[in-house]
Amino acid sequence: MIRDQKRLDRALENIRDVVRSSWIPREPEVDRLAHLPDDIVAEMRQRGLFAYGVPEEYGGEGMTCEELAHINMEISQCSLSFRTRVSNNIGIGVVPFLQGGTEAQKRFYLPKIATGEIVMAFAVSELDIGGSQATKMRTVARRDGDGWILNGSKCYVSLAPVANRILMYARTDLSGKGLRGITCFVLEPGTAGLEIGKPYRKMGQHGMAMSEVHVRDCRVGPETMLGSEPGFGFETLMRGFLFQRINLSGLSIGPALRMVEEALRFAGAARPGREPFASHQLIQAMLAESQVDIEAARALLLQTARRYDEGKDVTMQASVTKYFSTEMVCRVADRIVQIFGARGYIADYSPIEMLYRDVRGGRMAEGTSQIHLLTIAREMLKGAA
Ligand SMILES: Cc1cc2nc3c(=O)[nH]c(=O)nc-3n(C[C@H](O)[C@H](O)[C@H](O)COP(=O)(O)OP(=O)(O)OC[C@H]3O[C@@H](n4cnc5c(N)ncnc54)[C@H](O)[C@@H]3O)c2cc1C
Repeated sequence: MIRDQKRLDRALENIRDVVRSSWIPREPEVDRLAHLPDDIVAEMRQRGLFAYGVPEEYGGEGMTCEELAHINMEISQCSLSFRTRVSNNIGIGVVPFLQGGTEAQKRFYLPKIATGEIVMAFAVSELDIGGSQATKMRTVARRDGDGWILNGSKCYVSLAPVANRILMYARTDLSGKGLRGITCFVLEPGTAGLEIGKPYRKMGQHGMAMSEVHVRDCRVGPETMLGSEPGFGFETLMRGFLFQRINLSGLSIGPALRMVEEALRFAGAARPGREPFASHQLIQAMLAESQVDIEAARALLLQTARRYDEGKDVTMQASVTKYFSTEMVCRVADRIVQIFGARGYIADYSPIEMLYRDVRGGRMAEGTSQIHLLTIAREMLKGAA
């Protein structure tokens, strides 16, 4: 649902401008760093980029899911290191507060999330059991007077080295059974017993810092528990994931659009004494296949986002959209490297090498492609029973 076309157009213009004038020129620099430079983050805050997902009554822009789909397709037309810095604050760092937070927690956190004063991270995945089995998590929180003591280790936590709040999911029903046994805690780096690991060296999104997070006899007060009673963490997590999967689809279409744009410029350019590469029909076929892929992903995304805004159950559609878009951008990236030839393989010659690496993580993040296929099949079979 587009609630306010003029406001959306202004937001898209704002994003297009920052991506084109500020971020794209600095992609090579950011790809060599393990974090975003401070001046880039300051500009993100000044331009209001953290506010889109927070409702207006808590100081944000309150964009609908469909409006955010357009925002996400625009903000990701450059190295994903940039958009990751804002996207937790738009999606998965906001939904748990909205769905499970007390009114006091919403009033305290959401306005600061909207300005970017608070940068959110979420910690679910655990190395021993694998991120696909979140319900079997081993991180525990035991009662300690009216507070809690947390123990456990999380991995792959995007933005953990730079975040100033971490949504830490832990088991509070120590029998280890049941989805109602998981609770979310809002932890602040600097708390005794909370340790942020060294930033990983990873395949892509180099400018997005990611690390392990450990809690070792980490004693926290009752106010750190999200909501007024324990046991609802898994429910809010799943709602956050549902929303973030739709967001991630848009964030996969943006890089595909950018790569095709780069390929059109490259293949269409005149060459001394030779026809442009685009004169070859097999190059045209790779461009056309990429366009078909992008348009199909875009149509799926907008349809799913509209249904989400209408309050319909989009469990299956969110998985279909997430699966298709994250697989699609990797197919497009592969074709575009091919169109560029070895220039697409060498970082000094084109941004394609970096974009190819950046987009690969989407097929694991917010649930692997295999887990989404299982979800789609499960939902289909429900109807067949
Ligand atoms: C870019 C990126 C950002 C991320 N950010 C975060 C973050 O901020 N916070 C966080 O907590 N996590 C984060 N993750 C982790 C992400 O949630 C996990 O990668 C994901 O849940 C999958 O878990 P895993 O990688 O441990 O794979 P595993 O669960 O160990 O799976 C390994 C393989 O087995 C397959 N598999 C597993 N179970 C089944 C099954 N039942 N049937 C068929 N196949 C199966 C998987 O598909 C995969 O191929 C991020 C990951 C990436 C790549």
